[in-house]
Amino acid sequence: MVLLDRDGTLNVRRTSHVHDVHDLELLPGVGEAVALAAALGRVVLVTNQQSVGRGDITSEGLDAVNAALVRQLSLTPGARVDAIYVCPHLAGTCDCRKPGTGLFLQALREAPDVLPAHCAVIGDQPSDVEPGLALGMLAFHVVHEAESAVATPAGAFRVGSALEAMTMLAGLPGWAS
Ligand SMILES: [Mg+2]
Ligand SMILES: [Zn+2]
Repeated sequence: MVLLDRDGTLNVRRTSHVHDVHDLELLPGVGEAVALAAALGRVVLVTNQQSVGRGDITSEGLDAVNAALVRQLSLTPGARVDAIYVCPHLAGTCDCRKPGTGLFLQALREAPDVLPAHCAVIGDQPSDVEPGLALGMLAFHVVHEAESAVATPAGAFRVGSALEAMTMLAGLPGWAS
């Protein structure tokens, strides 16, 4: 199973959150990255969306943005998203918000045949990859050029894009399909 962060990993991260389908801009190569992930197994999104808890977007609005993202990804042959796990809560009020492991555990519960050691997480913030590392998953930290000062958590691979992460993962022994 590949667990993908959303903002900054699949689509351009905005200074304010993506509130509208029109704010959605996919990063280069993400359709191919998701297709590579789909060829290996289950593909899920794990995303913190505190803006729901703040009331900046409704959960229906968020669903519409996520549906548009999945639709745009699906334009690439073979790309597929099997499930989306959202933490809509305000920071400090739940145990699913990353870097908590709640969303990851939910994803594992719904895929009982998948072991954490056979999972990989791809995210652009240390807090995206930390829950994966805590559960024994492979972790890929996407660092954009403008943010090269950000440190990568120990044990995670540092990459420039989701596609670079997936190309690397698909070439690892035991992962190639
Ligand atoms: Mg992100
Ligand atoms: Zn939560």
